[in-house]
Amino acid sequence: MTEKPALRGIENATEQAAAWSAAWQGWTPQDILAQGLADLGERVALASSFGAEDMVLIDMLYRLQPTARVFTLDTGRLPYETYDLLATVQKRYPELRLRVMYPDTAAVEEMVQTQGINLFYESVENRKRCCYVRKVEPLGRALADLDGWITGLRRDQTANRGTMAVVEADTDKQSQRPIFKFNPLLEWTWEQVWDYLKTHGVPYNALHDRGYPSIGCAPCTRAVAPDEDPRAGRWWWEQDNQECGLHVTADGRLVRAKG
Ligand code: SF4
Repeated sequence: MTEKPALRGIENATEQAAAWSAAWQGWTPQDILAQGLADLGERVALASSFGAEDMVLIDMLYRLQPTARVFTLDTGRLPYETYDLLATVQKRYPELRLRVMYPDTAAVEEMVQTQGINLFYESVENRKRCCYVRKVEPLGRALADLDGWITGLRRDQTANRGTMAVVEADTDKQSQRPIFKFNPLLEWTWEQVWDYLKTHGVPYNALHDRGYPSIGCAPCTRAVAPDEDPRAGRWWWEQDNQECGLHVTADGRLVRAKG
C-alpha cells in the first residue's frame, strides 16, 4: 500500500479526492474499502440497492469490518425478489449495520392522492416527482451524517464513466456540504463481478437470472434481451430515461445526478 494522504478538511474535498485517487491507483477494491474505512470510520457507508456489484461490496466490507455501515432506499415499489435478498443479507451478514431508508409518509400520501399510484407513466415530470419523493429525499437524509459514500459504479457501464475517478468530490444537494464518493469497483468488469459472487457464494437478486441486469422499482423495470442495452429496461416508456435527480446505473444502483 502507498502511504495514505492526510485528511485535509472537507473544504478541500476536490483536492483530497484527487490525491486519494492518485495514491490509490491500482489498488484492489478491498484495499480501497479498507483505506476508506480507516480514513473516514463511522462517517462512510455503502449505498446499496442490492445489485450484483453492491453484493460484492457488501461481502467485501463484511470481511473487512462486519459492523460497516450500509444503507438502502426502500421506495415501497421494489420487486419481491429485492425484499427477499434484503432479508437474506440481514441473516447472512448479521452484524452489518444496514439502514433501510423510507420515503416521507405524508409526501407519499399526498402524491398518490393527487396524482395516482402509477403517476410516473403519465409524464417525465410525474416520474421525476415520484423518484424525488421515494428516492432523492430519503437519500439526502441517509447522507446527512456521512462524509463519504461508497458506490458499486464501474467504468465500463456507460460512456460517460470514462472520466470517473476512484474517489470523487460530490456535493450533498440538501446541505450543500461536500461529500466524498468512493468507487472501489471502478476498474472491474461485469465478468469479475460475477466471478467474485460465484467464487464466494454470495447471494444475488433472483431477477438477474431472468433477464434483468438492472433492477429498480418493479413498475419501472423490465427484462431486456441479451443484445439490448442493460439500461433499456429502466423507464422503458420514455425516450430519455437517465435523469430523476439520481442516475440509475446499468444494474440499478442509485447515483445522484450532477448539477
Ligand atoms: S423508479 Fe418508478 S416507482 Fe421508483 S421512485 Fe422512480 S418513478 Fe417511482
